Amino acid sequence: MKRIVSLVLALLLVVGLCDTAAPARAATGGKLIALTFDDGPGPYTERLLDGLKERGVKVTFFMVGNRINRYTKTVARAYQEGHQIANHSYDHSNLANLSAAAVRRQIQNTNALLDPICGAGTDYLVRAPYGSTNATVRTNVGAPLVLWSVDPEDWRDRNATTVKNRVVNRARDGSIILLHDIHSTSVTGALAAIDVLLDQGYEFVTVRELYRRRGVAMENGVSYSSRGPNGTDLGPVTAPEFSDEAVDGQLQVTLTAQPGASIYYSLEGPELNQASKRYTGPFTVSTPCNVWAVAAYDMNGSRSEVVKKTFTYPTAKSPILQVTDGTLTLKGRTEGTDLFYTLRTAGSQEGEKQAYTGPVSLTPGTEIAAWAAGEGYLDSAAVRGVYSDRGNFFRDVFPSDWFYDAVDEAVQAGWTAGFAGEEFLPRQALTRAELVTLLYRRAGAQVTQAEIDECPFRDLVKDGIFRDAVCWAYAREIVNGYDGLFRPNDPISRQEMSKVLTLFLVSQGKVLPEDAGAVQIYSDAKSIAGWALPYVEAATACGLLQGSDGKFLPAGRTTRAEAATVLTRVTEAENRLPDRT
Ligand code: ZN
Repeated sequence: MKRIVSLVLALLLVVGLCDTAAPARAATGGKLIALTFDDGPGPYTERLLDGLKERGVKVTFFMVGNRINRYTKTVARAYQEGHQIANHSYDHSNLANLSAAAVRRQIQNTNALLDPICGAGTDYLVRAPYGSTNATVRTNVGAPLVLWSVDPEDWRDRNATTVKNRVVNRARDGSIILLHDIHSTSVTGALAAIDVLLDQGYEFVTVRELYRRRGVAMENGVSYSSRGPNGTDLGPVTAPEFSDEAVDGQLQVTLTAQPGASIYYSLEGPELNQASKRYTGPFTVSTPCNVWAVAAYDMNGSRSEVVKKTFTYPTAKSPILQVTDGTLTLKGRTEGTDLFYTLRTAGSQEGEKQAYTGPVSLTPGTEIAAWAAGEGYLDSAAVRGVYSDRGNFFRDVFPSDWFYDAVDEAVQAGWTAGFAGEEFLPRQALTRAELVTLLYRRAGAQVTQAEIDECPFRDLVKDGIFRDAVCWAYAREIVNGYDGLFRPNDPISRQEMSKVLTLFLVSQGKVLPEDAGAVQIYSDAKSIAGWALPYVEAATACGLLQGSDGKFLPAGRTTRAEAATVLTRVTEAENRLPDRT
């Protein structure tokens, strides 16, 4: 007795080791049968598939190539439902009577019709019509050759009960049974036989699976007619398992399967085949989404059921970020999440991630990134901002932007007051009213009531900074509008801007350089309007505006970011140009 106990323990130990170290699974000792259906697809194949699906049974179809195009939907259904699709020649010729090249054509033409359904790269077992083979066939099919061990001669009697009885009586563990789904009686008889054999404890598998389960590798050109029990049962292919983890605000999906099995997956739908995406490691998804996956030793006949997993992780909302007088405050918008932030100062790397516990004092020149994260949520998108070198707060201007310093200076000087705040909108087109307002602030001017009274434009909002600036500019002949309209919200063109900038310098008492011909450096000089020509020449000579790739682009627009840099050039010109005496 004691010896038996220790033997059992030793066995348990071995089994335990095998489970983790080897692909082999514990033997289950199932009784296996491979039903095969030849000469289809045909008009009864769908009924057979219905019956097989109802019973959870997988079989192998040896299909005749020239029938496939009439039944592509049926073939696709058989494949998708996990049955094995195999090759029964193109036109049911006796392959043993054919040349090597003709044998190859019979096989390859059929494979080519199956590939669009099963996916390029699929291997198809071959059954030669009549089981007729010779050396030429064996060396040219390029696949294992499948025969049978039970032939109920279903094509001869056409009697469902006879078919059923012969299948039931002759079935053994490991049998390959020959049937034909082009006969209605064979379909009925086969389904009846399946019911009896299921009750007797048989498990129905594809031919590929019969050999895999029994640990036998099938070889091209070799014939196989049955595989009785040999002490090995590697067990069925189990479906892959999903696990997921939120990583950097995205959901990372990991799939696992039995050792040696491949995993195929899709985010589009359940129809997977050999050409589907093959899992090579964790991947990220946006939620919500569905992922379908299947584990396979061979997608054609040796695979698990397709399993679907729905990922519905919500994403946390970004926090509200505010900077007031150099103090950062964050406010969460998703309950159950915590807030985090990083700070980065000029020239340094992104700082360490810190948990937000209350207001934070900032030093000028600090970039801020903040987000929300929590159990059961994907991290929110980061919200960003800059507490600038001059103590301004921007949400859309960063030290890495070429215009950062010019914008920071313009805002700090108060030139953008009234139309630019935390959102500077640097890439938005500068309007006519905005340019005039920049210059009005820049001049530190005050409009007078008389100037407002004499201002002729009907399309200015009654009060406010734009009206004051435009009326001030009109009084100094910097702008003149269009027949009583100023069109304040129109983007200003570069030639219009040349006029406004040069007339501004004149109003400031400056003498402009006389430099007729300065525009000749532009390849598009001819497209500058006649009225604008002297202003573009002066603006070019003063260095206020420069071309781009040798062109002036007179009708081109200016962004608000570019306007900030133009203002610094206006300052340089003012310092350089002589005063009118
Ligand atoms: Zn046949």
